[in-house]
Amino acid sequence: MTRDITTRILHADRLGPVEHGAVLKPLHIATAYGYGTAEELTAVFQGQQSGHVYGRQGNPTTAALETKISLMEDAVGTVCFATGMAAICSTMMALLKQGDHVVASQYLFGNTASWMNTLTQLGCEVSLVDATDAANVRQALRPNTRMVFVETVANPRTQVADLAGIGKLCTEREVLYIVDSTMSTPALFQPKAVGASLVLHSLSKSICGHGNALGGSISDTGLFDWSKYPHLLPAYRKGPAPGWGLLQIRKKGLRDMGATLSSEHGHRIAAGAETLPLRMARACDNARALAQWLQAQPLVSKVHYPGLASHAQHARAKELFKDFGALLAFETVEGVDPFDVLNALELVIKSSHLGDNRTLAIPVARTIFWEMGAEQRESMDIADSLIRVSVGIEAQADLLDDFKQAFEKLSRK
Ligand SMILES: *Cc1c(COP(=O)(O)O)cnc(C)c1O
Repeated sequence: MTRDITTRILHADRLGPVEHGAVLKPLHIATAYGYGTAEELTAVFQGQQSGHVYGRQGNPTTAALETKISLMEDAVGTVCFATGMAAICSTMMALLKQGDHVVASQYLFGNTASWMNTLTQLGCEVSLVDATDAANVRQALRPNTRMVFVETVANPRTQVADLAGIGKLCTEREVLYIVDSTMSTPALFQPKAVGASLVLHSLSKSICGHGNALGGSISDTGLFDWSKYPHLLPAYRKGPAPGWGLLQIRKKGLRDMGATLSSEHGHRIAAGAETLPLRMARACDNARALAQWLQAQPLVSKVHYPGLASHAQHARAKELFKDFGALLAFETVEGVDPFDVLNALELVIKSSHLGDNRTLAIPVARTIFWEMGAEQRESMDIADSLIRVSVGIEAQADLLDDFKQAFEKLSRK
């Protein structure tokens, strides 16, 4: 019997050994772990006995969060990192070599797009394609393609990748398929259902939700046959093959690169995760209502939200996701400065973060997508007037009222 996701999250900490009867995993801050005998210490070091040795590679609090994320994603294992970007970079550095080829969506989180540039400097080839159609990914595949990387719902324009089509293709070609599911969260979607090999999260966003911790994670769905992956070191080809990839990511990516999640942040993320499905349900309701309201405004030219029938991938989103998410973006008509819209909002906070309990909005082209320049913005379909809204869990009437008063102010101008 598979229990509901909230039930699984809430009771995850008592699946393993329970300390002092604690109903949740305590916060462990020790840097190092000591053992009674040299034999025991050696056994933990060599992986013959479970345990922790040094905090850079993990601690009991982070391990409990990793278990929680594995349960949410129906994964065989998870490794946490200090941030979502650390999870992305460390995973790729642990698995790629010079001369490898990566296919990624051209609609990527800005810093991930920037990281793809760095990868090319390190001697990897990167093809950025329109991943809303798996045919584009198929065309880009080469004999040296090691991985395909996509986001479920692209930030900020909300394009929905052809997740199932790409999954089928990667399975056929035995190519590693990495899905950044930050925007969907396990409350709405499990990438394992479409054949993802690895699932990535920025835990800083909705999974934490309270805007008080940074973190990232990579989970192995168990679907990829690591015995076919050419760059796994013999030291990590130990035990059953489903564990090999993650072991190399933990050793080469986490231990050697050192972007470790602090246990305090892990503890806060774990607390936030307990209410993820509740918060997402409310935020999705708010986002849908706001998207519909914005669509009817004469000063708004376009609204991008997968829950709207006008969205290019609405049918796909409906089929794949439990709900349409908490992120939307809109463009203003000629002559309406997006700064005036933002400055007229009183409740909504002007901020670059997303997936927060509070509603946050940002003018995209002049902030988070500024550094990449006009040409790349155009290729990513980022209009100059685009405003991204990360919808929170405020009472819906208060949120809509704030937008109403803002647009009233603007139309009086
Ligand atoms: C925020 C974000 C990241 C990076 O996560 P950080 O925790 O901020 O490093 C990666 N992917 C997506 C889709 C994001 O929204």
